[in-house]
Amino acid sequence: MENSENELISQILRRVGEDPSRDGLRATPERYWRALRFMTSGYDADVKSTVEKALFEEKYDDMVIVKNIEFYSLCEHHMLPFYGRCHIGYIPDGKIVGLSKIPRIVDVFSRRLQVQERLTDQLCNTLQEFLQPKGVGIVVNAYHLCMMMRGVQKQNSYTVTSSMNGCFRKIETREEFLAHVRSEHL
Ligand code: ZN
Repeated sequence: MENSENELISQILRRVGEDPSRDGLRATPERYWRALRFMTSGYDADVKSTVEKALFEEKYDDMVIVKNIEFYSLCEHHMLPFYGRCHIGYIPDGKIVGLSKIPRIVDVFSRRLQVQERLTDQLCNTLQEFLQPKGVGIVVNAYHLCMMMRGVQKQNSYTVTSSMNGCFRKIETREEFLAHVRSEHL
């Protein structure tokens, strides 16, 4: 961490009425900077190299779904967290991706300043681009702290976004996917 970053964050602390030299705050600029760097580390991550090493030829051509992928992101309007779960499905067309890579892709795009709508589209487009599947479906459910702690202060409302591509635009496929997303069973 550079001195200028330390000074920047100390300034913010002073502006909100704090004394950055008191004990509890002495290391806060450094800790905050490290946390912020981690929460925005998706800018430095390379989704191409993450995915390309884990593509496999496979004849399986039914729906693959990874449910309940936790994510934490920062809304670009307030730099406050929004967090929740993604559900990702696709129907392969000769290529599958290692399952552990799907949550990695979510991390790459969620660890940036985001809006939920764009995050949802980026996940959909990335799977489309690298897997060229018959279709992709994404559902993202999230709580936004900028709505809960400030603004309208609605603690129980959450936001749902979805993106459906290819055969997931067909009603039967979409319904099958959404039924899996809704089901509580393993
Ligand atoms: Zn916000």
